Amino acid sequence: MAVSSNHTIAAVSTASGAAAISVVRMSGPDALKIAETVFRPSRKFESHRLYYGRIIDPALNDTIDEVMIAVMLSPKSYTGEDMAEIYCHGGMLVTSKVLELLLKNGATAAEPGEFTKRAYLNGKIDLLRAEAVNEVINAKTELALKIAQRQLRGDLSKRFGMLRKKLLLLSARIEVAIDHPDDGYFSDYKKLYEEAVTIKNDIEKIYRSYELGLRLREGFRIVIVGKPNVGKSTLFNRLLGIDRAIVASIPGTTRDSIDAQFSLSGKSIKLTDTAGIRESAQGIEKIGIARSWNEAENADLILWVIDRSSAFDDDDKKIYKQLKKSGRSFLAVLNKQDKASVFNENILGATKIVTISAKNGSGMDMLKKEMANLLEIEKEFDSYDIITTVRQKNKLSETLNLMDEMTEHIKEGYGEEIIGADILSVISYLDEFIGKISNDDLLETVFSTFCVGK
Ligand code: GDP
Repeated sequence: MAVSSNHTIAAVSTASGAAAISVVRMSGPDALKIAETVFRPSRKFESHRLYYGRIIDPALNDTIDEVMIAVMLSPKSYTGEDMAEIYCHGGMLVTSKVLELLLKNGATAAEPGEFTKRAYLNGKIDLLRAEAVNEVINAKTELALKIAQRQLRGDLSKRFGMLRKKLLLLSARIEVAIDHPDDGYFSDYKKLYEEAVTIKNDIEKIYRSYELGLRLREGFRIVIVGKPNVGKSTLFNRLLGIDRAIVASIPGTTRDSIDAQFSLSGKSIKLTDTAGIRESAQGIEKIGIARSWNEAENADLILWVIDRSSAFDDDDKKIYKQLKKSGRSFLAVLNKQDKASVFNENILGATKIVTISAKNGSGMDMLKKEMANLLEIEKEFDSYDIITTVRQKNKLSETLNLMDEMTEHIKEGYGEEIIGADILSVISYLDEFIGKISNDDLLETVFSTFCVGK
């Protein structure tokens, strides 16, 4: 395997601060030599074995720390190069002394993401998998982690590998038809069109998964709206399991929106309680209401709270109308189940309804189940092949534009040379997406977001 660089890099791979253990990593042609220089008792290291000893500064014959060290020889290492990992005591001072010693003995300080970049340049992983390394590190929810790990395992790469292969087969068929025009080979444009559209649809689906990936990583937005005094703040507190919002029996108490984070079936949720909406509002309350609608317009799900123990009046009707107009997904939450109802559910037509008592907690399990159901946008996707970075999204968007042109050309019956060239440029865009083709700028963009030592 080709070694991508002639210099050896070193970095601390664990987070800084006091800790039981820190890992200092080296990769490159001199990793072994430097490790042998600073480790006592001195060794001829064997690959993939763990050694106990001391790190010493050979110039001063001074012990810096008691450590374990492992050496992974090329090509069987993370980067594909010779690597050494030193497990020293955690703590800023001792860790930085170990690193300084490696730098003094011939290593260079690693750039952010340089280990992973080398793994990519040495063909150990493709660009999608390299990006997944960062996603795994930064995952904040179970689902985000699951997606990142699948991408790291290579599932997304495999899926694109298959799509690429299909395009190559289309291209080969066209080439045969171009090269042998008189031998009875011809391109069946109808079949070609169908196959091209199938591939395009598949890529389009993965492209749309970006939105889902974003929600899974950064959280979904759920906004509670309704008239004043219907129990919004009580519901807000009940969902969070703490008393965050002020509950009062005086209408118009909540004048501004408040947010809090909670978790619902493995998803991170930003829950927002908003100012009660009513027509008669004046001044500051009116500003609060405008804010309520602003929040609602950006929500993934709106919980519309109705007090079923009091009359469904003009304010309720106006809210209902506005919610339908917003096109957002919403759920009618009929509150105050513990009191006698004057509510006629027929008014709400096909709207999804859940009845609860925010005050005593009844109906909350059903409400949470229904909320989780409505947020399960992953149902639309047949797998967890989800793109996660803006780079991936933009590249796929460009690829899809080209594919639109390609399918249009096939439909219009353009010449085989043109169609053939269309397919090849789609393939080259996909190659950039996967990282088969790359350039320094692209790699800089991808790896600069990594931490040093990864
Ligand atoms: P908001 O203005 O919509 O945020 O309403 P609040 O949460 O401040 O509640 C208004 C009043 O209704 C308070 O006195 C609450 O205790 C009461 N309330 C809220 N939920 C329920 C419920 O399920 N049952 C009953 N009986 N009262 C409730």
